[in-house]
Amino acid sequence: MATTKNNTLKLKFDSARNLSPSLESLSAVKIEPRFELFINGKFEQPLSRKYFATINPANEEKLAEVAVANKADVNRAVHAARNAYEKVWKTMPPNERAKYMYRIARMIQERAREFAVIESLDGGKPIRESRDFDIPLAANHFFYYAGWADKLEYAFPNRLAQSLGVAGQIIPWNFPLLMAAWKIAPALATGNTVVLKPAETTPLTALKLAAIIQESDLPPGVVNIITGAEETGAAIVEHPNIDKIAFTGSTEVGKIIQRAISGTHKKATLELGGKAANIIFDDAPLDQAVEGVINGIFFNQGHVCCAGSRLYVQESVYQQVIKKLKDRMETLIVGDPLDKNTDIGAINSRQQLDNINKYLKIGQQEGAEMYQSSCDLPKRGFFCRPTIFTNVSQSNRIAQEEIFGPVLTIQSFRTDDEVIEKANNTPFGLSAGVWTDKGSKIFNLTSKLKAGVVWANTFNKFDPASPFGGYKESGYGREGGLHGLLPYLKLV
Ligand code: NAP
Ligand code: MG
Repeated sequence: MATTKNNTLKLKFDSARNLSPSLESLSAVKIEPRFELFINGKFEQPLSRKYFATINPANEEKLAEVAVANKADVNRAVHAARNAYEKVWKTMPPNERAKYMYRIARMIQERAREFAVIESLDGGKPIRESRDFDIPLAANHFFYYAGWADKLEYAFPNRLAQSLGVAGQIIPWNFPLLMAAWKIAPALATGNTVVLKPAETTPLTALKLAAIIQESDLPPGVVNIITGAEETGAAIVEHPNIDKIAFTGSTEVGKIIQRAISGTHKKATLELGGKAANIIFDDAPLDQAVEGVINGIFFNQGHVCCAGSRLYVQESVYQQVIKKLKDRMETLIVGDPLDKNTDIGAINSRQQLDNINKYLKIGQQEGAEMYQSSCDLPKRGFFCRPTIFTNVSQSNRIAQEEIFGPVLTIQSFRTDDEVIEKANNTPFGLSAGVWTDKGSKIFNLTSKLKAGVVWANTFNKFDPASPFGGYKESGYGREGGLHGLLPYLKLV
């Protein structure tokens, strides 16, 4: 009987993996061979005269060349942003500012397909994710903040909301267009101008956004988008004519930025790393919870700062949950990001894959038991099988440090107090998830978990109206919602 069941299960998995490819068409997409810097409303060659290649991590082929902005280029961009701030944007009636933002939002929607494909090509994420999550949410951010532009006096009654000036914005590679929208939209709504730098490995959708911004007739210099690696980011942070830094990225770089701006007038928001606990109680709907765990750590290759990378399961259902999890992992399809069947796409870069593999070794050396799904990986490109570790102890590095890959540690617990203590026992505090049938348990945990966001019976849900940000080494400041306006304003 057991063998028949196993065979049936195997057949089911094999047929899931053997679906014929359903590739997204490239017909809507045009990628220029070379991209310049977007400064003062124009695409300008870099003074550095240097370019770097951005590659497709699913096949390691070059997609385009992108300009390197050096200090002098950063200076040009900041100068353009300051000029636009003083001469145009600061004094423009807020409802006029909103019109540009609505226009940009609509243009992103109109070109959603092109954006989705480029996001998957450049960053490696499955097309389903970029098509259904990243791009629609990026457009929604512009819509949402456009709505606030002329209502700041209602957002902050009896206070005068004044813009700060020029915002320097630095974003990571895991949600390239979405992070650009998270940064640019609230800055524009509040009357600030922008110099934005996307990550070195995923510059293309930000540069395509620059083309939309140019077409939208936004006054030159209000948004400047410049590319380069960490030196470019550092030059933005250190530029004396910048008033606010908005950074999303690693805790390590967050600390460098914090040191660089200490003693200056610059305001900052830092959205940093995470090590979210996903907690399953024995009264939870287990199939739903397992699906939430899979979604929380494996979809998007675990390249999510709020990924549910630590699972805590109540002891009485521990074995059952592990079994369900392993069964579900076997059905996950790892492969071409442009295939609509793909659940787990390419790891963003060789460097990131090396880092994940380093942690797989560390986990085994620490005595944890590793289990990976049995799927084949594509021959070229950067890929990683979904992985779980059991027999993990709280002090293990794999349970404490951010891996940023499809790797889940699993521990059991008995009581509420025990799991709260374990969940809070990391340097991070960005997000957490709770799965239970009881509302009282949800309220007990959400008030005691030290995390900026706690999801209950769901995971990784986002809305532009909802603030997002961390505790402890996950950073400070909030993005999204009314709270997301505050870091760009002086209230007098
Ligand atoms: P990262 O190395 O910190 O890079 C983030 C951005 O900062 C990139 O644009 C990077 O440029 C730039 N940068 C690097 N060194 C810099 C410096 N010294 N000064 C100024 N800028 C500098 O992080 P990542 O590896 O790209 O992204 C993964 C990390 O981001 C994870 O730790 C993840 O948890 C975190 N993250 C957090 C959130 C959140 O909302 N809290 C969201 C997404 C990601 P280059 O890439 O071009 O070198
Ligand atoms: Mg790339």
